[in-house]
Amino acid sequence: MFTKILIANRGEIACRVARTARRMGIRTVAVYSDADAGAAHVAACDEAYRLGPPPPRDSYLNAAKILEIARACGAQAIHPGYGFLSENEGFARACADAGVVFVGPPPSAIAAMGSKSAAKTIMGKAGVPLVPGYHGDDQDPGLLAKEAARIGFPVLIKATAGGGGKGMKIVRAASEFDGALASARREAQAGFGDDRVLIEKYLTSPRHIEIQVFGDSHGRAVSLFERDCSVQRRHQKVLEEAPAPGMTAERRRAMGDAAVAAAQAIGYVGAGTVEFIAEQDGTFYFMEMNTRLQVEHPVTEMITGQDLVEWQLRVASGEHLPATQAELAIRGHAIEARLYAEDPDRGFLPSIGSIAHWRMPETGARVRIDTGFSAGAEVSPYYDPMLAKLVVWGEDREHARATLLAALAECEVAGVATNIAFLERTVAHEAFATGRLDTGLIEKNHAALFPPPGRTPPLALVAAAIDELATLRATTQPPARVAADPHSPWLDTDAWWPLSARHAAVFAYRDGEEHGEVRLSGPFDALSAVIEGKRIAVRAVREGDRWRLDVGTRRIDATVVRLGEDRVVFAPGVRRRLTYLDPLLHAGEEAQHAGHLAAPMSGTVVAVQVKVGDRVGRGAPLIVLEAMKMEHTISAPAPGIVTAINFAVGDRVPEGADLVDLEDPPAT
Ligand code: ADP
Ligand code: ADP
Ligand code: MG
Repeated sequence: MFTKILIANRGEIACRVARTARRMGIRTVAVYSDADAGAAHVAACDEAYRLGPPPPRDSYLNAAKILEIARACGAQAIHPGYGFLSENEGFARACADAGVVFVGPPPSAIAAMGSKSAAKTIMGKAGVPLVPGYHGDDQDPGLLAKEAARIGFPVLIKATAGGGGKGMKIVRAASEFDGALASARREAQAGFGDDRVLIEKYLTSPRHIEIQVFGDSHGRAVSLFERDCSVQRRHQKVLEEAPAPGMTAERRRAMGDAAVAAAQAIGYVGAGTVEFIAEQDGTFYFMEMNTRLQVEHPVTEMITGQDLVEWQLRVASGEHLPATQAELAIRGHAIEARLYAEDPDRGFLPSIGSIAHWRMPETGARVRIDTGFSAGAEVSPYYDPMLAKLVVWGEDREHARATLLAALAECEVAGVATNIAFLERTVAHEAFATGRLDTGLIEKNHAALFPPPGRTPPLALVAAAIDELATLRATTQPPARVAADPHSPWLDTDAWWPLSARHAAVFAYRDGEEHGEVRLSGPFDALSAVIEGKRIAVRAVREGDRWRLDVGTRRIDATVVRLGEDRVVFAPGVRRRLTYLDPLLHAGEEAQHAGHLAAPMSGTVVAVQVKVGDRVGRGAPLIVLEAMKMEHTISAPAPGIVTAINFAVGDRVPEGADLVDLEDPPAT
């Protein structure tokens, strides 16, 4: 076994490889780009070396530099993770030439599977069923069009060098073929430097079922069963599970045998995945082989109890496979959810930025989290926006699904947009719950999975307002002049806070198209919150970075994360980003149109220029506040009738306090 390996990757997979290596007593070497100098994978390894600037070609794809580091630090092997150099035949060869073990298949196997077309030719010869289609060398557009017509529409044009769901075009009619072909070629050339394509029959509601295979250098290969990765967006996996719902022992054996035959046909060594596309009736066809560890390998680990990275390292060091086919069995059910920094409502557009808040569920035998992120980390534009993999295990699918829902509910990430709420809806959706999976599940249930945001939940407003009140209290300092006088009422925080029932503070928020307002009064242990005329009794206690709220008889935990003017609120069933309408910054805006005039700063009332019942015009002076030796006149934002004056001359008012209530004048 190796005593030191270099991990030529970043993020969760680098951390995950390091974890197993460490457990096996192998020293680990990290490499990093300038964007990752403070990243988790650097800390997870025993040694770390800088590669260069953030772009992958200057860092994680810099094969020469990585090999130079490996040789200089004495690493005997390089684990490439997934993506980057993991399926790069040239790199695998360069490792061999440098006398460093590439933890992966032989270069010839990578080459054989690198082109989807060549792979299909090899698989066809090995007797593995193929999707009806054309995967020949002749790329003449006229011939391709004829082939498409022969296959029958709809067809799928795929880049032979493609990956990551890119370079694919669905063609539904002959008239669309030429345009789609030209577009697929441009994308393939731009994305993979190779404009060759293949054509397949486009299956309309298929499932993606793949088989994890493992080969060793002694000619043996086994199947570690299937994973169902049908829940996809833009041909990329979102949820993966094992075993596949509805799989029979007979079909599992047939698919496993086909996959092992595929691996043996190319002299496969190490971890690989044979991807099949399956009809709803179970008929399956070879799609492609990924010659690396797959993102979703943890679901296989959860149901087999095996550590696939350990298998990779053992096999790479020349050992036999750690288990025979007969020794492998499936126990329970596992599901993985990929947490991405992306906005599902904007076409899953990646979201970059700094992670201001990060809370993940507790891990254990049933919940596993693989991530390279934590609070304060940056999601950079240079790399894949996957934040974490949440993997759960249960005795059966329904237990696993319930555990996943509970775990997702505990995930809180603020600072970047995430797909967490979308994952919750998908996992809760009846189509997923019943296991009726197909690759169109997300599009077919678009209305349910992408609901409009709806009204701001009252709980979100209440939690945000309570947090606002507490922050104001913590940051409101008495003026320096009176702070010197120990008897000054300014220092009597109990007099200052809490607000009495009469002295309510109004907090206003914008939430997309919505506008919400909360009127808070009373002490923290007996708050009264009024939203749209409805009163809610709340008791609020700060517990670490959360609020423990007793709302009526219900006890909940809520977290409010402050991002500039925005407040991200997490509470049971609530994930909401609100914008606080600071009365200082928004004087005369929404906060005041609602009929409450909030104090723009803390101060003392030095004059009240109106009385209840007065009819005032726009701009009429109502109250004068003094703060920091300066007077500020609060005037009417619109014509109205004074319905309440909540403070008198000499009263101290906190920022946000509701000074005067106005109502619209009666129409005459
Ligand atoms: P899996 O089948 O393991 O789920 P994905 O297609 O989601 O694989 O890709 C796995 C990782 O590899 C992702 O991080 C993705 O960004 C990266 N990746 C996939 N294809 C390519 C490619 N052609 N070039 C570079 N990176 C890729
Ligand atoms: P990639 O290299 O991007 O992973 P794949 O060939 O594995 O490309 O296909 C990715 C996804 O596209 C599949 O998981 C499946 O959802 C869809 N797909 C691929 N081939 C077909 C097909 N013939 N019919 C329908 N959907 C397909
Ligand atoms: Mg694929």
